[in-house]
Amino acid sequence: GELERSDAVVVIGLGRFGGAVADSLMRLGHPVLGIDADERLVQSYADRLTHVVAADATDTEALRQLGVADFGRAVVGIGTDLEASVLCVLSLTELNVRDIWAKATSGRHGAILSRMGAQHVIYPESSMGGRVAHLITSKMIDFIEFEDGFAIAKVRAPAAAVGRSLADAALRTHYGITVVGTKMRGEDFTYARPETVVAPGALLIVAGPTDKVERFASSS
Ligand code: ADP
Repeated sequence: GELERSDAVVVIGLGRFGGAVADSLMRLGHPVLGIDADERLVQSYADRLTHVVAADATDTEALRQLGVADFGRAVVGIGTDLEASVLCVLSLTELNVRDIWAKATSGRHGAILSRMGAQHVIYPESSMGGRVAHLITSKMIDFIEFEDGFAIAKVRAPAAAVGRSLADAALRTHYGITVVGTKMRGEDFTYARPETVVAPGALLIVAGPTDKVERFASSS
């Protein structure tokens, strides 16, 4: 069936995080097998995911019976129950699931999950908390930080950039950031060009080292 497709994903723990991942995967066209210990929660996902099962995800044999070993990719959304989260990742590793994404609630929890074989550890609360801090203290409207202190942000154009072309404003020289895209009032986002003149109220997508992006977003 559909769950045998190579782009199928098994999502274990259909709480707020796992449930949102499962729904989004379905929207993106990936078949999803959802597993949760909570029978009622499983019922509520019955017509939203490709297949849902109530099972204890710390039981390696139960997961094997459900065909989990045939999936290349798994997401573990169990967070609060640390023991269940760790045992579930260990089971997936034992079943040779290649690509394991697991949610952690603390740095130590995340370190254990990595040791147990999770290739990707996600910290939804702390990542979102960090983003919100950026959003409320500067002109940033959206902010994504990558590894090595590199970030991309959506910012309202600071006065220093308004009324001048991007070439003329020389933001790379002055701020060490690169404008990637611009959006003038009432228009769509478009690629930034040297001759683009920044209008008052324009939005900019800027990329660069995080500290430089922060400095640019708090300049006026
Ligand atoms: P969130 O904060 O994203 O809602 P939770 O950790 O509160 O995350 O919820 C995780 C989900 O994982 C719950 O729906 C819970 O029923 C499920 N869960 C917890 N332990 C197990 C387990 N051993 N097997 C399967 N599902 C589990």
